[in-house]
Amino acid sequence: RDDLLVVDDLKVHFPIKKGLVVDRTVGHVKAVDGVSLRVRRGSTYGLVGESGCGKSTFGRAVLRLEEPTGGTVTLDGVDVSALSGEKLRQARRRMQMVFQDPLASLDPRQSVQSLMIEPLRVHDPRPQAELIKRAADMLELVGMPRSALAKYPHEFSGGQRQRIGIARAMILNPDLVIADEPVSALDVSVQAQVINLLERLQKEFGLTYVVIAHDLAVVRHISDRVGVMYLGRLVEEADADELYQTPLHPYTIALMSAIPIPDPEVEDRRERILLRGDLPSPANPPSGCRFHTRCPYRQPTLCDTEVPELRVIEGHPGHRVSCHWAESILAGRVEPADSLV
Ligand code: SF4
Ligand code: MG
Repeated sequence: RDDLLVVDDLKVHFPIKKGLVVDRTVGHVKAVDGVSLRVRRGSTYGLVGESGCGKSTFGRAVLRLEEPTGGTVTLDGVDVSALSGEKLRQARRRMQMVFQDPLASLDPRQSVQSLMIEPLRVHDPRPQAELIKRAADMLELVGMPRSALAKYPHEFSGGQRQRIGIARAMILNPDLVIADEPVSALDVSVQAQVINLLERLQKEFGLTYVVIAHDLAVVRHISDRVGVMYLGRLVEEADADELYQTPLHPYTIALMSAIPIPDPEVEDRRERILLRGDLPSPANPPSGCRFHTRCPYRQPTLCDTEVPELRVIEGHPGHRVSCHWAESILAGRVEPADSLV
């Protein structure tokens, strides 16, 4: 049981609303539309895609903060998607979420102490004084003073608030932490500190992470494996080194070409791939390959009519891509149609 988390064919379809009325006859927004992936115990899985691709909904559905409409989620061999009541509550304790600005969604009139012991109250029968001590210990663990307990969320900077959010997630001693854009709201210098903190906690407690981001650069150094989502589906997945060296799906190639090269001395000779158009509506995804309306490598007919399967590329174990032309792209036999050099 090397894999702590196994997600199989997960679906979250929302009925479309007409104004305020849910009308099931209009159709469904397929926010997550059949995603399967595995996360090795103690590793970090980076999940990347534009806003609206379903990555946050995926994270929420794994934790059952959102009800999946199909598929299964297995945590440490237990099918979490089949649980309810007390058993679900027990399982939830082992999975925690860290948000972009984790304290923003919480009641600003509550002190840090009361925000932090709130998740414990549900799960932990120990006396209040012990819960407070646990909260203070967690603050120290993330590099915050114990005195922060008496303060309020608005008294802290974004980076400090994220530390407190991480402490709050750690208080239940989880196995799996899903971090949704954990550093997107922070300055670059603070981003590195928060990433380092996450890495330190992972080593110390053997945590397993899913880190969700809209940017491939953010998850590059923290991830062991990376998945790229587009319109509710996983379009490419590989070990991090392999994915950054040999991106094969045109969407990944486009995202990758948007990452600036950090060293100004190094000439950037990569091709810039521009994505045409906006993200299509997940209520009415394009036929065939969902990326075909924006793909610079698109070939007539096949791309528009046949759905490409997510499949392993020969000679690249563990590298899965859903593109009809992945081998040709790998061999350099097809060129993007309109790129800027
Ligand atoms: Fe582009 Fe066609 Fe590959 Fe889809 S299947 S990513 S449209 S080349
Ligand atoms: Mg999001």
